[in-house]
Amino acid sequence: MLRRRLLAVVVGLALTGGSLAGCSDDETAGTAGATDPSTPTSAEVFDPEASNGDEAPPDVDPSDVPEGATQAYDHHTPGAGSTGIDVQHYGLDLAWDPAAERLSGTTTVTLRAEHDLDLIGLDLASNLEVTDVEVDGEPATFEHGANELVVQPPEPLSLDDEVDVAITYAGDPAPAAAEPSLGDIGWLGNDEVAFVASQPYGASTWFPANDHPSDKATYDLTFEVPSGLAAASNGVLVANDDDGSTATWQWAVEQPMATYLATVAIGELDLVEAEGPDGLPLISFFPADEPELAEQFDDMGLMVSTLEQLFGPYPFDSFGAIVVPDEVGFALETQNRPIYGTDVLSEDFRVHELAHQWFGDSVTPEAWEDLWLNEGFATYAEWLWRERTEDGFDIDAEAASVADDPETADGPIFDPGVDDLFSFAVYYRGAATLHALRRELGDEAFFALVREWVADNEGGNVSTEDFIALAEQHAGRDLGPFFRSWLTKQPYPA
Ligand SMILES: [Zn+2]
Repeated sequence: MLRRRLLAVVVGLALTGGSLAGCSDDETAGTAGATDPSTPTSAEVFDPEASNGDEAPPDVDPSDVPEGATQAYDHHTPGAGSTGIDVQHYGLDLAWDPAAERLSGTTTVTLRAEHDLDLIGLDLASNLEVTDVEVDGEPATFEHGANELVVQPPEPLSLDDEVDVAITYAGDPAPAAAEPSLGDIGWLGNDEVAFVASQPYGASTWFPANDHPSDKATYDLTFEVPSGLAAASNGVLVANDDDGSTATWQWAVEQPMATYLATVAIGELDLVEAEGPDGLPLISFFPADEPELAEQFDDMGLMVSTLEQLFGPYPFDSFGAIVVPDEVGFALETQNRPIYGTDVLSEDFRVHELAHQWFGDSVTPEAWEDLWLNEGFATYAEWLWRERTEDGFDIDAEAASVADDPETADGPIFDPGVDDLFSFAVYYRGAATLHALRRELGDEAFFALVREWVADNEGGNVSTEDFIALAEQHAGRDLGPFFRSWLTKQPYPA
């Protein structure tokens, strides 16, 4: 995800830099020496059990969840995600009627039991009415409350049992409860286009999901929409057909994908196909009434090959872009095909969302506390791109400038808390952390570390602890103090 920083703020700082910088320096000086009682000890900081165990967060009442079903377990997204199940595959077979604003169809969730289960819990918005649930073709009873669908299979599941849970539903989809920094998430849109941007907990606004990045799965997605409209989604385009009344778009995602990265955009969009490095299919969609926007992406293949030199092979079997006809102010790294508003097509945004295909999409955080690994790398990729393409770009000065603004400088950025999960510090101090690590290790060891990180964890989930362990291998020494000062402390490292 990347959202626009308000130009007024940047300009304001530039125009009145003297007084504002002085003011913020004073504030930093005032807090730097103080002991923050909430700062965790080093032993707690990278202990996943301490910071993100399977306990329900304090603001979720476990008694709201029926016994034997699953419950929320990531304190950054209370209420989203389930334990006890491991989803293998989602099959979405949905129709969208824009005139009636009605989404309808069946999603089949193929899941494996991680222990004996009487009940299966999935996240699904309550304004989508469930009319039928079948488990392996047998009717099942279910309860659908606030964002939670609880299914009782005809027979209890034993450890490692795999079942198909087919859920038929319909309704007028709506965004999820607003995220503190990002606002509306999930099913979004206006009269012209319906589209989905779910980070971090919006998938349940359009399909039943184990809505947490730790449970990745493959997908088949089929959409029936009115003739003449496109339904742009993730993965490879398997088929598209228009019989004059209905258009059908069928997509397949064969590499594991986190639920927040699943998307669809339905509207008058032009399909533009091209070829990237090594024949990589580039499948993109642009507003039919603004076809010239496609030119903004002429360098897509060059960007892919440039980032491949830095990070290793592009991790998926297709790439592209979805530009929706609206100034939404953000872009999201939806897998294979990032989604953009028309106001966020600059080079920085395009490099950022491409870099996320390695960092976030292929190599995915185990929990939201590790989001800096996504956003730090994607923001650092913007600087690396400029280092290679812009004469006179000074990457050391760029990294140093992060310290100038409390919004980009103030930590912690590991486990930042619900209100600051998408703070600009997670992005910019995250990138500065990686740049400081590069200067600590030297270019050769740093880029070897990055490429090994990507190759070893392709398609999987990772933690900050994992990254530190690999960095220490490449450094040949303890980097605990380095990472603690960059990731977990409020003041910016001196
Ligand atoms: Zn991002």
